[in-house]
Amino acid sequence: MTEKFCRECGSPLTEKELAGEGIIPFCPQCGEFRFPMYNVAVSMIVVNRQTDEILLIRQYGKPSYILVAGYVNRTESLEQAAARELKEETGMTAERIRFNRTRFFERSNTLMCNFTVFVRDSGEWNPNEEIDSAAWFSREEARNNIRPNSLAAYFLNAYLDET
Ligand SMILES: [Zn+2]
Repeated sequence: MTEKFCRECGSPLTEKELAGEGIIPFCPQCGEFRFPMYNVAVSMIVVNRQTDEILLIRQYGKPSYILVAGYVNRTESLEQAAARELKEETGMTAERIRFNRTRFFERSNTLMCNFTVFVRDSGEWNPNEEIDSAAWFSREEARNNIRPNSLAAYFLNAYLDET
């Protein structure tokens, strides 16, 4: 999904060596390097601090469970994006946010950044229309219910294996 044309002037990009960076897409018309652009998103392992249960959701009519996730807005920090997406999608307030890991998802040209988000209780639960259904799972139940071979499963299993 690397761009073939300059995002400013539309000219075909070539490649040129940039000292210390290697071969980078270059617009001869603008005389500027054009570093590849991609999307940034956050996904969350939402943990209830009192019960240690993990929230998984269903979306887009699919039967399997995934993690709460969403794209990061320009000017927003990853932590702000995680707290905002959690609030928008579930109504809940993030009490503490801890970074886990990231992985690039080629299909949507997105760097997915995974966090653990702790919530105090599920009393604020007020899901928006993006969520078909949701459930709280014990750690092992969560491992068994997350969509197999998904990015969500990669993040969840890594989290469960090291905490
Ligand atoms: Zn250009």
